[in-house]
Amino acid sequence: MKVGFIGLGAMGFPMAQRVIKAGFPLITTFHRRREPADALALLGAKVVRTPAEVASEADVIVTILPADLELEQTILGAEGVLEAMAPGKVLVEMTTGTAMSLLKIEKAVEAAGAHVLDAPVSGGTSGAMAGTLTIMVGGTLELLEQVRPVLSAMGNRIIHVGGSGQGKTIKMINQMMAAIHLLAIGEAFALGIRCGADPNTMYDVIKDSSGYSRMMDLRLHDFLLAGFFEPGFKLDLMKKDVQLALDSARAKGAPALLTSLTAQIFAAASAAGYGNDDFSRAADFLAAIGRVSLSEATPAADSARAQ
Ligand code: NAD
Repeated sequence: MKVGFIGLGAMGFPMAQRVIKAGFPLITTFHRRREPADALALLGAKVVRTPAEVASEADVIVTILPADLELEQTILGAEGVLEAMAPGKVLVEMTTGTAMSLLKIEKAVEAAGAHVLDAPVSGGTSGAMAGTLTIMVGGTLELLEQVRPVLSAMGNRIIHVGGSGQGKTIKMINQMMAAIHLLAIGEAFALGIRCGADPNTMYDVIKDSSGYSRMMDLRLHDFLLAGFFEPGFKLDLMKKDVQLALDSARAKGAPALLTSLTAQIFAAASAAGYGNDDFSRAADFLAAIGRVSLSEATPAADSARAQ
């Protein structure tokens, strides 16, 4: 099975490395930066000029791009994947985007006699490197089984969640919760610090109490308390994900009070110049509104700075 891979960013590059190391012949292309494609070529990948060329040489084409706009350009645009889709080929679409865009692409790809599997991921860049991603699969079980060997190179939790578009929906809900949990940590820890509590002590207590969220393990020590914001997952991508949830709530007439405020805080952090930082910067930004620095409150950060 030849695998085409498009989108060699923070997630796509390590995912493509795992696919090639699992023994699949890989064909790829690049958008602006050619370094990741060159690095894959050293592992044996073939680098071609356009997404259409990737699709013409591959049986399974994996895409993981920033959002709907880039995805639609890559699939439906000039020299896009669609131009080379033909019976027998499968597009495995892993971007965090809307179900609406996925279904539009699916309609076009099926008209060409090929198929689409909706397969967004969670687990971050560390999961992408380790091959431990969660893959939320929307589509038929038959199609999932057909591409399972490729998915297994990238993830170890492959969950069939329903029909096409359901993967995108569940991923959107996860992001909505992750963003809210992150900001809750920023605001609550800032207040605790103001009241004289030590952040590490707060963590030790709360990790086994009802206020705990997994986001504490993912972003508290290595990012917020360390004052380290190299992405990871870019703030502007999380801003986009929260906006997807907000758009969806509006379309369904559903209330989204916390999500609205969360979207505003991410938009403000982005406007303040933090869009390319790790998304956890939004919690630091929120704490800073109240003049609290999460990183300066920790003895560990103080001693690191003194060195
Ligand atoms: P990224 O910005 O690091 O990478 C995106 C890649 O897409 C880049 O290589 C870019 O060159 C390429 N690209 C952009 N526009 C293109 C175009 N028009 N044609 C071809 N290529 C194009 O983003 P990422 O962090 O790798 O995230 C990718 C997707 O995965 C996003 O939807 C994101 O929400 C989702 N995601 C990210 C994480 C994470 O921790 N980073 C985790 C889960 C899901």
